[in-house]
Amino acid sequence: MKQTNRRVFMMQVALGGTALAATQAMAQAMVNEKDPQAAALAYAADATKVKNPKYAAGQKCSNCALYQGKATDAAGGCPLFAGKQVAGAGWCNAYAKKA
Ligand code: SF4
Repeated sequence: MKQTNRRVFMMQVALGGTALAATQAMAQAMVNEKDPQAAALAYAADATKVKNPKYAAGQKCSNCALYQGKATDAAGGCPLFAGKQVAGAGWCNAYAKKA
């Protein structure tokens, strides 16, 4: 394989992986606050509206140690809600500050 072809091939592989990851992220539904698991953990999609006594201002999924998205992502995975996504601006009572 010529050097140029190899470079193009590697770029295609990288782009294909990115597209696949984006497709998988889009395929995952958002957690519904009324789901039993969500209700049990007092999950809210908007942390600023949380009235839970465990909540402290500034806490949100995107700065939680369990959040699997990037801090700037609008939504990401959380191991407590397998197969679904939580809002980056969300919160639940299992919140753990990211170190
Ligand atoms: Fe959000 Fe963290 Fe609760 Fe998961 S454990 S829902 S990331 S606050």
